[in-house]
Amino acid sequence: MKYSRKEFITRSAGALLAPIAIGAGGWINAAPVAGIPRNAAERNAYTRMLLDQLCTAIGPRATGSEHYAAGAAIIHGEFKKSLPVVDYDDYAFDRWELIGRAGMEVGKQEIETDLAFGSRGTPENGLSGILSRQDSGFIVVHPENKELLANISVNKYGRSIPVDRSTDPTLPPLFGVGYRDVPLLEEAVQSGSPVRLHAQVRFSSDGKGINVIGRLPGKQPDEILFLAHADTMYTTPGAIDNTASVIVMMMLAHEAAKRGNHKHTLTFAATDGEEYGLLGAKHYAKVRSATDTMKNIRYVINFDSLAWGPNLWVNSLNDEIKMIIRSIHSDLGLKSYPRFESNDGFSMDSAPFRPSEARAAHINSRGYDAQTLPRYHRADDLPQHVPLDCTEQAFRVFDEFIQRVDRL
Ligand SMILES: [Zn+2]
Repeated sequence: MKYSRKEFITRSAGALLAPIAIGAGGWINAAPVAGIPRNAAERNAYTRMLLDQLCTAIGPRATGSEHYAAGAAIIHGEFKKSLPVVDYDDYAFDRWELIGRAGMEVGKQEIETDLAFGSRGTPENGLSGILSRQDSGFIVVHPENKELLANISVNKYGRSIPVDRSTDPTLPPLFGVGYRDVPLLEEAVQSGSPVRLHAQVRFSSDGKGINVIGRLPGKQPDEILFLAHADTMYTTPGAIDNTASVIVMMMLAHEAAKRGNHKHTLTFAATDGEEYGLLGAKHYAKVRSATDTMKNIRYVINFDSLAWGPNLWVNSLNDEIKMIIRSIHSDLGLKSYPRFESNDGFSMDSAPFRPSEARAAHINSRGYDAQTLPRYHRADDLPQHVPLDCTEQAFRVFDEFIQRVDRL
């Protein structure tokens, strides 16, 4: 039996790097796409291959970890396949690590919990207090003097997750719980049952942040800047948040490089430390200001979690960007419904680029919410759960976006 290349790629997409029998020819080592993907089937195989390398083989890639650095090296190597300029943009920061696990007991009941990334820990023997409701979460206070001892945030999407608390480590410890445990906590508020919390953390000054910046110079300095964070929360391999979006960005780079001849300079920034106070994007923006190139940026497009579902969630105050994305959907006959929000496009990783005064959009996605969103920041945000229709579609929309903007 003989397969055409296309069939072979399609068939091998589910069995990455594993030897695949192809009949009388015997076993061949099926690295599905060694070079640059050329069509939808190859893009799917390429996405699977890189998700496997980054999420399965390496795992969680929290900022400052060796695992993050290994992932950054892979991304650098992929950019190098097609872009003429690829650089690391390094910076130093105070690294945070959790020692062991965070724990919570309400009365005698253990509750699943995660400490926020960058949060202070508890004293070595933990802390105890009583619960009360506050806003959408809870607080733990001292039973007598009512001093605030800890904050508890509720994950509205599913079970317990850590959030980002890196911005102010002087605040009381912040623990995350899942919404399934809210009734139990409510009960404890009523009954005054004691709650015990413990989590040990370590800060060290040797943190190294690593952005990977690929560039495709155009005929003009006028620039379209794409951003996608390459770090993950410390609890997850982050297949949808945000590895798949980084891969979409790499495929856009490959396709643009193949096409060549752009008016605009295209920059593709895989940023570090998004889950930790946007440190990578903030640093790269500083570099752009210091080198007096911030002003060249005409468009800033931030990709965060493009594969929760097929409907792009477009946050932008710029009508031109929205109009282009809307018409691309109808012109390409895409069977999905972008959701347009009048939110500032300078949000999350694109926020530090506000001084450019560029047209900005922050892009997320929705549509398979019940299946995908409970995996947000959790250990099961895994490659096999990434819907490839979403990555392919995001690729098609923004590949077309680059071409249309370039013609304006
Ligand atoms: Zn993210």
